[in-house]
This record gives sequence, structure tokens and C-alpha cells, in this order.
Amino acid sequence: MQEVITLLEGISHDGKSPKVLYDCGPDQAAYGSKRQIFNLKFQFKPLAIVLCKCTEHVQQAVKIANDFDCVIRVRSGGHDHEGECSGTDAVLIDLSEMTDVKVDKKAGLARIQPGNIFQDLIPKLAKEDVCIPHGTCGTVGIAGFSMGGGWGPWTRLYGMCCDSLVGATIVLGNGEAIELTPECEQKELLWALRGGGGFSYGIVTELVIKTFQLPETTIKFNAVWQYTPAFTVLKHWEDWIAADKNEQLIGTNLMIMAIPTPKESIPIRETVHSCTFFGYFAGSKEELYEHMKVWFTDLVPTTVTIITPGIADGKKQPHKFDSWDRLTSGSPLLGRNRPLPGAKNLFKLSDLDSDALLHAEYIPPDVDAPAPHKITSRLTSEEWNDKGRESLIASLQSNLLFDQGENAGLLCYVTLGAISGSYYANYKDPGFPYGSAFPYKKRKYTIQYQAWWDQGEEDIKLGKKYNVHQYTNRAEDWIEVCRKRNFPETSGSFISFKDDGVPTRDYFMQSYDELKRIKEEFSKDPRNRFSSRKTII
Ligand SMILES: Cc1cc2nc3c(=O)[nH]c(=O)nc-3n(C[C@H](O)[C@H](O)[C@H](O)COP(=O)(O)OP(=O)(O)OC[C@H]3O[C@@H](n4cnc5c(N)ncnc54)[C@H](O)[C@@H]3O)c2cc1C
Repeated sequence: MQEVITLLEGISHDGKSPKVLYDCGPDQAAYGSKRQIFNLKFQFKPLAIVLCKCTEHVQQAVKIANDFDCVIRVRSGGHDHEGECSGTDAVLIDLSEMTDVKVDKKAGLARIQPGNIFQDLIPKLAKEDVCIPHGTCGTVGIAGFSMGGGWGPWTRLYGMCCDSLVGATIVLGNGEAIELTPECEQKELLWALRGGGGFSYGIVTELVIKTFQLPETTIKFNAVWQYTPAFTVLKHWEDWIAADKNEQLIGTNLMIMAIPTPKESIPIRETVHSCTFFGYFAGSKEELYEHMKVWFTDLVPTTVTIITPGIADGKKQPHKFDSWDRLTSGSPLLGRNRPLPGAKNLFKLSDLDSDALLHAEYIPPDVDAPAPHKITSRLTSEEWNDKGRESLIASLQSNLLFDQGENAGLLCYVTLGAISGSYYANYKDPGFPYGSAFPYKKRKYTIQYQAWWDQGEEDIKLGKKYNVHQYTNRAEDWIEVCRKRNFPETSGSFISFKDDGVPTRDYFMQSYDELKRIKEEFSKDPRNRFSSRKTII
């Protein structure tokens, strides 16, 4: 395999060559850190990691891998939940150094290279006063995100990111690079990139995405209920996200913690799980305050926190106020199945009538640290009802979960990501192939079951009482139970929340057969080298 590495090291275009990292190569430290992906459950040792700088480098790397019949893997942000962006003994085409962004304000478009991650991309766009429908996590990459659909804070107002994708440059299976536009001969390939999942069709080296003008102010906040039945919170949240309501609530997700099965039998509609409403609001603090008074009148949260705003470089500095660090440090969100004795709500609406609500110029991304995890997902069906809600809450109570696991750093919960809003309520399908492969435009929300654990050896050395690894297998079993649950009020699964136990067709539903045909017809990949476990063929 030395011959392959030598050829990869010889790649060059316009006087520039990609750095090539490999095991036992001259830069072991760089190889060690670059082989790591976000889901620490996976530890791969690629044959070589090729840090491409341009489309031509990608083309040459594909041809070399083809000639030597090497497995190809492609990585942009490295956040694939099943680790399909890397592999042991693979030639890993890494695009993280391709980070150019060009905004054409007149055309309302941004040309974005795939190595951009949101914590860098959003401020770059905000400098031009524009934005795209991005995700919540700062280190997720635009490429995998948008091809997987791209759910985020802007979904209610601007849809999934894939619905704003209007062009791309893609390297096909034979190494040829083509530019895709809505009018080009291969426009069906562009349709497939809009929600048909990453990697299946080729290697994308530039995305052209529609931009929108940032609202004058945005506010990111969360509200936590510690002592209210989850069923009640869920009903209210669904009411807030109804398609024809709350236009200024640009996006939201609801997190409900999973708990050990309660010892005494409590009716499902009365069980208490810690619930957190993450909200993204377009408007002034006065307007948010007025909305909160309406939203929360019948359902007063335990706490409300406003998140530090993001301000584009070179503009005024944010005022300082409460910050909140999700999951990365001791979480304030640990689930409790019972109100504490004498507990009362800590938050009063009048607390908000203060200067604590400041303005953001863009929505600041979350800071999530790499950690091992396992997830699965479903979507509410169009006939979602109270039976479905009860089933959802029941799935969050399990004798596979333990308080000790949570105390050791294992977090099990569901996040519900609102899809319903003005964008899809008013969506007029332009017809194939001008729309997108994303099959869930009429669903209310995604249901993402998650188990995360991050206790390292250090914690054990420090004498933490419980070892998280005593609980992780059962948490993963809980995820499997949730995947297999008889839950007829839901259907399908969201490819960006990848779980390799879900049959591939379930991710793409009515788009699946078309996607297979498009790959066969346009990707010039007869040996199916652009293939990993959940690609479409
Ligand atoms: C902490 C965390 C938070 C998340 N939050 C959200 C969220 O808010 N909304 C949401 O929708 N999703 C979210 N996701 C899921 C995320 O969008 C997907 O995992 C997405 O695929 C990640 O893209 P990436 O470029 O970072 O990942 P990668 O792992 O680099 O890529 C993902 C897949 O796409 C392929 N791929 C990558 N780049 C290219 C390319 N240039 N051309 C062709 N194929 C390519 C890879 O081979 C792989 O199969 C989150 C994931 C994590 C881990």
C-alpha cells in the first residue's frame, strides 16, 4: 500500500498539494488527531487521510483509489452518527481545509465549500447580513448536513437547508467533476443531493445555497419544566409550533429526558420528566416578552435562560448575561421523575421584564464536545394524536435506564425538532426534479432518541462513584427497543440522525426508488465505490 500513499503524495494542482497523513508517517500527531471523528464510539485507522484543497485534488484522489481498488471514505465535518465518514484501511478524502465562502448579495446566493462548519460559517455570512437555514451544533459541517436534509433553528420559517440548495460542484465515480444547476442536463442529481443523504452520488466540492436577510434581532432562549407532566408540556409545545401560529418563533426543539421506570405505577399523562424547550425568536426583547406571557401563562417554566448572542466580527460586543453549556459540562437538565418535596416553580414572568433579553445578530451555535453516542429517529405521522403522545412518553420510561448511569454522565433523552411552520404550510411543490428528495415536508416534527456518555478514564481516576460503562450497553439496548417499538403513529426515519439498524428505504420513503435510479444513471460509479452502510445502494 506504500505505492498508493506515494501516489497520493504526488497529487498536485496549480502548484498546491494536499497534505497526506498515514499511520507511522512523519506526522503521527496530526494523523492521530485527524483520524478521530465526532462519535468517539468509533475508532478508525484510515490507510491515508488526504487533506484536499481543491476539486482537482479530490478528482486525483478518487482516480488513485479506483486504480488500486481502495475503499473510499469522504469527510467534511465528521459528525456522521454511524461513523460512515471514515473507515479502517480506507483512503479518506478529507475536505475540512476547503473553507471558502463567497456571498453574492444581489443574487441572494452563497457559494460554500464543504469544509465549513457552522461556528465559522454563520459569522462569515452574518458579516454580509445574510444567513442560510443552518443547524444547532457549531461543529457540524455544511456538506453532510445539507445533503441529509438539514434541520435547524430556521426550519419553521425557511424549511430544511436542502430546500435552499440550488447548485453544486460534484466529483463523480470516474473522477470527472461537473457543475450542477437547476437547468443542467444532470439536474436530477441536484434533486438527489437535496435530502438524499451524503456520499451516495459523488463528492461535493462546492454548494450553492440561497441566502436570506438576517432579521434585525434574534434571541435564543430555553425554558425548563422540572415538575410538570411531560404530556402537558408536549401538548403545549405542539400548539406553539402549529403551522399557522407564532411566525416569530423561527424554530424550536423540545428535549424530554428519559427516566428509569417509576417504582409505583403512575398514569402516563401524569409522569414528570425534565423538559426543555429550546427556542429561536426573531424580534425584539419586548416582543419576546409579550409572546412568553401568552405561551407560558398556563404552564409556568421552572427556569428561563437567554443564551449569549452571537455578534459578527468587527461589530459591537454583546452584553454579558447568563450562558448555558449544554451537555458538555455538568448538565442542569438531569431528569427527575418526581417533584422534589416542597418544590415550587422558580421562575416568574416578571423576572423577564428586564434588560436580560438582549439582541443577537445571528443565532449562536451550541458548543458540543465529541463523545460516544447512539441515536435513532422517527417522525410523527400525518395522523399524530394523543395515543401517539402517550406512546412517546411511555417509550421514555425504561428498566434499562438507571439513576446511577445518569449520575455517571450517561444522558438518555429524546429531542423533537419542529418541522411545521409557515415554510412547509405554504410550500408549493415545483414538481420533480425541481423540489427536493426530503420526504417529510408535511410532518410536524422529528423524534430523535439519543444516548450520550462522556465519562473518560480521568473521571474514573478521580474516583467518581459510578463507572458510566456499566450502563452504556443497556442504554444502547434502550435505543434498540425504541427503534423496534410498535409505534404506528410514527413512520420513517431521518437520515441525518443515522442509525444503521434502520432499513435504508425507511429514510427516504417515496423518494427511495428515484434516488436509486438517479445514482445508477448519473453518478458514473458502476462498481458502487461511493458506498457505505446507509448510502442508497
Ligand atoms: C452533535 C451533533 C449535532 C447535530 N445537530 C444537527 C442538527 O441540528 N440538525 C441536523 O439536521 N442534523 C444534525 N446533526 C446530524 C448532522 O447533520 C449529520 O450527521 C451530518 O451528516 C453531518 O455532516 P458533516 O459534514 O459534519 O459530517 P460527515 O461525517 O463529514 O459527513 C456525513 C456523511 O456525508 C458524507 N459526506 C460528507 N461530506 C461530503 C461531501 N462533500 N460530498 C459527499 N458526501 C459527503 C460522508 O461520507 C458521510 O456519509 C448533528 C450531529 C451531531 C453529531
